[in-house]
Amino acid sequence: MKSPWGEDTPWPKKNNFFTYLRGCLRKAWSNNPIKLQVLKSKRKQIANPNPNGKKPMVWGFDCEMCGGTFPISNGQVDHIHPAGKLNDVGDIQGFVERLLFVTEDDLRLVCKDCNNALAMSDKTGKTYEECLIDKQVIAIQKVKGGDIKWLIARDVTPGKNSKIRKQQIIDRLWEEKNNDRE
Ligand SMILES: [Zn+2]
Repeated sequence: MKSPWGEDTPWPKKNNFFTYLRGCLRKAWSNNPIKLQVLKSKRKQIANPNPNGKKPMVWGFDCEMCGGTFPISNGQVDHIHPAGKLNDVGDIQGFVERLLFVTEDDLRLVCKDCNNALAMSDKTGKTYEECLIDKQVIAIQKVKGGDIKWLIARDVTPGKNSKIRKQQIIDRLWEEKNNDRE
C-alpha cells in the first residue's frame, strides 16, 4: 500500500500526515455520543458560582479526580486509559480502539486543571499529583511577585530567587496535601 504523504502531496512529511490524522480523530472524539452521555449522566444542578448570574442554579459536576464542584463548562471527559500516541502506522489500531472503543465505565468527568495534569502525567511519566502541583506553582509564579506573596501569606520566608521559591512552594503544597489526608 502507498503512503499518503510525501513530495507533491498535502503532507510533505510523515509527521504532517499524522498531525492531520490526530486532528481528525480528535474531532470524532469531540462529538462522540458516549462522551456526551457521560456529560449528561454525571451533571447535576449546583448553586451558580457567578455572582452576577441571572439563574440561582446552573448545571455543574463533581470532578472525579479532585472532588471539587464546577460548572459544566469546566468539565472534560477523560479516558481512564489514555489513547496514547499516534505517530506511526502501527499506532493507528491501538489509538483508535483506546479512543473510541469505550463505554461510560472507561471514561471519567474531570475539571480542566485535573485534565491538564493527567495529560501532563501521560507525557512526562510524573504522577498526577506531581503534575497538579507543578501546575499550581506555574500559576502562582506567573504573577509578578505572586510567589513572594503566596509564601508570606503562609508564614514562610521567601527564598532569594525564583528557583528557591519554587521549591518552597512545592514543599508547602505537598505538606498541605498530606495534611488534608489526615
Ligand atoms: Zn479536578
